[in-house]
Amino acid sequence: MSSTTEPPPPYKIDEVESNATDSSPQNDSRYVMSRASPYNTAPIEMDCPHCQNHIVSHIEHVAGVLPWILFSILAFLGLFLFIVPWCFCCVPFFLDQLLDVNHLCPACKKFLGRFSRV
Ligand SMILES: [Zn+2]
Repeated sequence: MSSTTEPPPPYKIDEVESNATDSSPQNDSRYVMSRASPYNTAPIEMDCPHCQNHIVSHIEHVAGVLPWILFSILAFLGLFLFIVPWCFCCVPFFLDQLLDVNHLCPACKKFLGRFSRV
């Protein structure tokens, strides 16, 4: 019998992968997620970064920049030029299509991310 050399361990690839992740400490998954902006107007299914639960995000409509821009325009037209009734100024704040969407965790109530119109 000739002495055989040891076969390469099958988990060597795993070692390389773990080394690759270890060598890049800047690879913060939350940072990547916020840059990719997976948030939409609809609730999304995800793992909460705060409580680690698998949750469907709770959404909340909030006034972002866009309603204020429209409010300014309508206020200007209504109050100074009398083109539209001044009471229309607040309409943008009641249109869900114009509002930003905040995603909250239903389990720990923490803020997850925001879908912005602008
Ligand atoms: Zn949570």
